[in-house]
Amino acid sequence: MTRANLTPETVQSMIGDYQAGAGKRELSKRYGICKETVIALVRAHGVEVRPSGGRTGHRVPPETLQRMIADYQNGFSLERIAHQYQMHTSTVRAVLTANGVVIRSQGQHSHRGPAARKDPPVGATFGGSTVVGPADIPYTVDRSGGRTYRVRVECWSCKTQRDVAVSALRRGASRMCRACFSQSNRSGVVYAK
Ligand SMILES: [Zn+2]
Repeated sequence: MTRANLTPETVQSMIGDYQAGAGKRELSKRYGICKETVIALVRAHGVEVRPSGGRTGHRVPPETLQRMIADYQNGFSLERIAHQYQMHTSTVRAVLTANGVVIRSQGQHSHRGPAARKDPPVGATFGGSTVVGPADIPYTVDRSGGRTYRVRVECWSCKTQRDVAVSALRRGASRMCRACFSQSNRSGVVYAK
């Protein structure tokens, strides 16, 4: 594991690239770290790791990706999004799936009325992380229309920001990033805010 010269900004940028569809091999070259480190960092920051070979092969710029996800969650069909962004429907499906969006079964519409949203306020702390604002993708929608709300938190130790599910924060499942958590366990150092 060679991660000594990665700044939190670099790590964040790498994770953004991964979420946008870049594969671990590509990121390994781009950031000069081994593939295992890429995956370890992605995982440590609460991002779902795609199965090997699961890269979409399509680089979608982050802004486009955000818009596609928002469109889909607002009830647009895969076909309509495919037309709008001039991609194949199967590509849209792959890109959305790779980014943690659950695809609705056919004919199912997302409009079910949002559940009351109660985000923890900015500044709220959860054993190792502080809420710093809204997540890039504010919520994901499951097959039955249920929403998982997300917020952006900052690790007290390495100051890396990541987006996590509010429910995971509330039940204590998501605290400081995993890398820092295991580091603090190993060294016996307790990180203070
Ligand atoms: Zn950390």
